Amino acid sequence: MPKITFLGAARTVTGSKYLVEAEGKKLLVDCGLFEGSKELKQRNWEKLPIDPAAIDWVLLTHAHIDHTGYLPRLARDGYRGPIYSNAATHELCELLLPDSAHLQEEDAEYAARKGYSAHKPPLPLYTVEESQATLNQFRAIPRADAFAISPQFSVRPHDAGHILGSSWLELTITENGKQTLVVFSGDVGRYDQPILKDPESPTRADFLLCESTYGDRDHPPGSVEDELADIVNRTAKRGGSVVIPSFAVGRTQTLMYYLRKLEEQQRIPHLPVFVDSPMAINVTGLYMSHHEDHDADFTKQETSGNHDPLNCHEVHMTRTVEDSKKINDVVTPCIIISASGMITGGRIKHHLARRLPDSRSSSASTSSLVGKWK
Ligand SMILES: [Zn+2]
Repeated sequence: MPKITFLGAARTVTGSKYLVEAEGKKLLVDCGLFEGSKELKQRNWEKLPIDPAAIDWVLLTHAHIDHTGYLPRLARDGYRGPIYSNAATHELCELLLPDSAHLQEEDAEYAARKGYSAHKPPLPLYTVEESQATLNQFRAIPRADAFAISPQFSVRPHDAGHILGSSWLELTITENGKQTLVVFSGDVGRYDQPILKDPESPTRADFLLCESTYGDRDHPPGSVEDELADIVNRTAKRGGSVVIPSFAVGRTQTLMYYLRKLEEQQRIPHLPVFVDSPMAINVTGLYMSHHEDHDADFTKQETSGNHDPLNCHEVHMTRTVEDSKKINDVVTPCIIISASGMITGGRIKHHLARRLPDSRSSSASTSSLVGKWK
């Protein structure tokens, strides 16, 4: 019988890593970082129960760090094989893995300054250089067609509708002539959300592994567009600004789409919109370029003259710190979208601190507004 070992995402929702073994060959599906509490992060430092050099292949469902962020550490510890993903996931990883490494390096520097760490001197889990070397191990697989990894493993990816490039995987495992079909859900998105195609439904499986971070929650009723229009209109009328903390991958693009649509429908005024996150700006470029992920509505808009459905009428993409600081000088009503989505750091903290003491301003909170499209 083939064997599956859970090396993460068990009793918690991050650190997804599934080791699949058949006829002595080893395939790792996803290679995520544990994220969240200090205790969880500590698990990234524990030795894997398998020597990374003994793994033959890695296969990815999507680019989020809790599914890919351990890759540079796996490579540093001896993994030399290919990392299979579709093109969009690869290109997102080119942005996300060095960014994750940068955060690791910052954490180590902070620990060194404050004089606390289990390591002396404090070390990052991996460096930016190591994350870049890992990117050379990526190999492209088709977006939707079957792909034979080896005589033991064959995969067919399907749209998962979660983020750009996200797939659930139909893995056919062959051992001693007997086939077993295992479906790995990865993270699954919602139906009827803008930009991306809806998730496809599995039709068959011998075993189904389903990730269910929000599986015990109902989606709140009401329309995202109505609520967003209401917040923007009320705030603009008062002469204030709307500050929106947003994840760089997925959420920012969805938000831009809705703002543009509301402007087109003349339901909100044309305000300056600042996208103040270099990561979000880069990711938006990838969202626009991967047409294979776009749903019919988005494709129709692109081909019918609305060439940039993710851009509002007056949008400012601020990459540099200087440009970010200049947003402080804007005193007329505006919309500021910035990272991080959980307000754990980044430029959003400065915008909230500066704008929210002004009672005319507002923040579209991630829990009420954004929660509607998670
Ligand atoms: Zn995800």
